[in-house]
Amino acid sequence: MRPEALNPLFVETEALEGVGPKLRKPLEKLGLSRVRDIIFHLPERFVTRRAIADLDAGSEGEQIIVALTPIEHRSSSGRGPYRVLAQDEVGNVCSLTYFGRASYTAKKLLPVGEKRWVAGRLDRYGDMLQIVHPDHVVADGGDTLGRLSEPVYRLSEGLTQPKLAGLVEQALGRLPEMPEWIERAQLAKAGWPPWAEALRAAHKSEDAAPRDRIAYDELLANSLALMLVRADNRARKGQPLKGDGSYRGKLHLPFPLTGAQTRSIAEIEGDLQQEAPMLRLLQGDVGAGKTVVALEAMLIAVEAGAQAAMLAPTEILARQHYETLRNMAAPTGAQVALLTGRDKGRARESILMGLMDGSIQIVVGTHAIFQDTVNYRNLGLVVIDEQHRFGVAQRLMLASKGRRTPHTLAMTATPIPRTLTLAQYGEMDVSRLDEMPPGRQAIDTRVVAQERLPDVVEAVGRHIASGQQAYWVCPMVRDNETDDIAAAEARYASLHERFGEDVVLVHGQLKPEMKDAAMERFSSGAAKLLVATTVIEVGVDVPASTLMVIEQAERFGLAQLHQLRGRVGRGSEKSVCLLLRGPTMSETARERLALMRETQDGFLLAEEDLRLRGGGELLGTRQSGDTPFRVATLEQITRLLPLAHDDARLLMERDGGLSGSRGEAARMLLYLFERDWGVLMLRGG
Ligand code: ADP
Ligand code: MG
Repeated sequence: MRPEALNPLFVETEALEGVGPKLRKPLEKLGLSRVRDIIFHLPERFVTRRAIADLDAGSEGEQIIVALTPIEHRSSSGRGPYRVLAQDEVGNVCSLTYFGRASYTAKKLLPVGEKRWVAGRLDRYGDMLQIVHPDHVVADGGDTLGRLSEPVYRLSEGLTQPKLAGLVEQALGRLPEMPEWIERAQLAKAGWPPWAEALRAAHKSEDAAPRDRIAYDELLANSLALMLVRADNRARKGQPLKGDGSYRGKLHLPFPLTGAQTRSIAEIEGDLQQEAPMLRLLQGDVGAGKTVVALEAMLIAVEAGAQAAMLAPTEILARQHYETLRNMAAPTGAQVALLTGRDKGRARESILMGLMDGSIQIVVGTHAIFQDTVNYRNLGLVVIDEQHRFGVAQRLMLASKGRRTPHTLAMTATPIPRTLTLAQYGEMDVSRLDEMPPGRQAIDTRVVAQERLPDVVEAVGRHIASGQQAYWVCPMVRDNETDDIAAAEARYASLHERFGEDVVLVHGQLKPEMKDAAMERFSSGAAKLLVATTVIEVGVDVPASTLMVIEQAERFGLAQLHQLRGRVGRGSEKSVCLLLRGPTMSETARERLALMRETQDGFLLAEEDLRLRGGGELLGTRQSGDTPFRVATLEQITRLLPLAHDDARLLMERDGGLSGSRGEAARMLLYLFERDWGVLMLRGG
């Protein structure tokens, strides 16, 4: 049970004044659904402004505060912005520019002839000075001049900086008293403030100490929770699985295993023979050949008279794994079945029966395979593909499925730097597939300007005319933000017009049957071009596909681009990857694309990604999905995780049951950072 003291933080944002159904949506888009989320929504950066008497004193690109008097409102004709022309004390004219719905606000805020204090970034548009979407427009100078330094939060449509800042202030007003969970000596040495003080400071200034303290809290919570899992796992009883080779001996693989595959299989085999359940991560770049390792592991379970289940993150992937595994396992006689949320009625019943009576030995599926209604005769091994798609909590739920805790093999293709491996999978043993199957060709990667789209379409045309296949990836289809995001639907429509039935479309919002049908047509070779959103990122394997086009590649992170590109270069044919880039690009985006051109080494790309994102920006930004952290930036993870890890280990050694006074405080910490699953590991906790 969550300690009562934390309850005020775990209520929904609607408990805050001014949050109704209308604000709820944009807040949720940012992942802010409870008061707690708002306190941890730290500023991305701070603006420091200079108050100037007139525009002559300001320079381009500078954040300023200046008194201006509106002289004319110019409505947009068509799609242009709404402009309010305003004059400073000495007669310089500046345009206050508003796009979209913001123009309604402008009309109210800036009546002609009335002086206003305006805060924002001074820019130039053609010959004219301008401020786009001023941060503040107020009648009272005193109020504005108090805002020379201000936090800037990440926003979503429908939110403004002042609104969010107001919510943060309210949320901070609800911080409960908390016991200290960091060692006193550590606090003193680092010069960190107490928890509540650190949070308030982190929203007010760029000082590193308060931010580091909060990041450290999060890292400590994570390390501690992972260690609790590990300790719990050691104490559990599983069933030793010892295979006699009878099934594996009948496999007819079309290739010899790589050294790395053989080594990983041996490591897994060793673990399976133990009574303590295996908790192993198989880490291997895209295309390194994880599936066959999983098959060998599952066959060991079958040989030992147990069942194995393989969990995939998407329906598409589950189906594909099912086909692959069934084909490979056919000569062994092992019974393989597929179970997804879509199976209904008789078919589903018969699979459930088979799992219960043990006639099905290997089942592949989505999370449907772990629903309460699914019972296994003797589940001995759980394989989780694309592990990073699942949280630790889910993984634990799976572990509780069997009568005895099943062994777990988690697989991931996300090549993460070693420091992050520790953070994300600290509780697991790791096998690395650091060797690619032989004969893979380098993927010829090129960066192409979006203007050359017609040429790219022609190239795709030649490619499929020669009988080869291709992928075309568009950024996610997001509601309301579609203006500048090339919608997969629209792209499909235009390519379909050009290439007809050779093109199929797959995205997350399609009806499942349509998705299957499209995938089926593509993998069978009937369709030549697959237009998709990032749903194809994970695991899809069609070796005959040798061309990959990624639109607006500058919007993707390095890791994601690498995953996407990994869909090609899987066969023996030469593969090409075209990265289409828009007209404007940040320096980092430019570097990212250059790196993609230069290397195909996933681990190197991961390290570089860390450098590119962690280094330059002071406060850093966290992109969801990359790390399990909300507050800690990559740079902070690299710097502080080893400390937090040691600290957690020390605490575990002294008070593994978290029952002393510091242990009690640590429990609070686990709840605060939603590592409750760590607490659950404590017997009676
Ligand atoms: P991933 O690690 O991305 O899951 P897969 O298991 O899908 O990779 O394997 C990618 C491709 O490589 C598949 O077509 C598979 O048959 C092939 N493959 C796997 N192991 C080897 C090997 N030792 N030699 C040659 N090809 C292999
Ligand atoms: Mg795979």
